[in-house]
Amino acid sequence: MDLLSNDRWRSTWIEIFEKHTRGVEKLAVESEGGGEDAKRRAAAFARRFHGLLADYRRDPVAHGEPSVMRFCGLRQQCLREQGIADPYLSIKRRENEAALRLLPGLLQEIDATAMETRWRRLVENAFAGNIFDLGCAGTIAMYESGQADFHTVRARLPHRPWCLDDLDAFERRMSQTVHRKAVVFVDNAGADVVLGMIPFTRELLRRGTAVILTANTLPALNDITHEELVGLMGRVAQADRAIAQSLRDERLTLIASGNDIPLIDLSRVSGELAQASRDADLLVIEGMGRALESNFRTRFTADTLKIAMVKEPVVAEAVGAKLYGVACRFEPGK
Ligand code: MG
Repeated sequence: MDLLSNDRWRSTWIEIFEKHTRGVEKLAVESEGGGEDAKRRAAAFARRFHGLLADYRRDPVAHGEPSVMRFCGLRQQCLREQGIADPYLSIKRRENEAALRLLPGLLQEIDATAMETRWRRLVENAFAGNIFDLGCAGTIAMYESGQADFHTVRARLPHRPWCLDDLDAFERRMSQTVHRKAVVFVDNAGADVVLGMIPFTRELLRRGTAVILTANTLPALNDITHEELVGLMGRVAQADRAIAQSLRDERLTLIASGNDIPLIDLSRVSGELAQASRDADLLVIEGMGRALESNFRTRFTADTLKIAMVKEPVVAEAVGAKLYGVACRFEPGK
């Protein structure tokens, strides 16, 4: 989205970031211990970030070209300046535990699903898990009122055709090809990664595709970090033999992406990930920030699947989708 030339989009995004900051401030107080010092630093974070956004209201290039990516980066910088490590840490832990309890039943259900409909089921699981997103006002409200439950959301997913619906093409490709290596970019902790992307990854592994599962190096909202993913996969391996075996024989590897925001600039991933991805022939980018707000128009040489639930009105407008619609874009490699 070009926030430099589109004044309305720029001011809409500034407003989204301004409103969202109150919630981050509140969580920062809790995550830093709840005392007077925590309150002071959280308030200083909010003040500083609001100030930067106000600068952008006055001058569209106040701190470099305006973009959602830039605003995300500035927010992280303001948190770091106040020594606020990870406001979402306890929420991520709680959601991971809740999702882990549902995982064995879900894996059984997937294994009992006929091959013809299995990818559809796996993609739908990814959509439903992607509702756990504490970067959007709408989904924060759903989460707080207990309406972001995985099975409820999945049962209420829109019927096909989805807003962007390349599922048939993806299924066709999967029926013709077994990819050598997939790089899977995961998004949020909790149901998103545990019930969405881990079962998806397990199916790729089952077919003989090696998988690199890659998460952010540093915390960003409720995105799972690489370190958290390593711990989580250890837990998953205790419950699932296929994952355990894949980790042991290194067909499944976990690599930090180098990223620290909910979007991703794939020209700036970690050296380790770039090196390990050289022979990949399937790219899976999941989540609104990574698949729609960034990389939506980026074309790759490898087969690429971009999947996300659309949770922000301005993103829906930009990609031509409905709010809470779901997007499944498959782009064959060149
Ligand atoms: Mg996210």
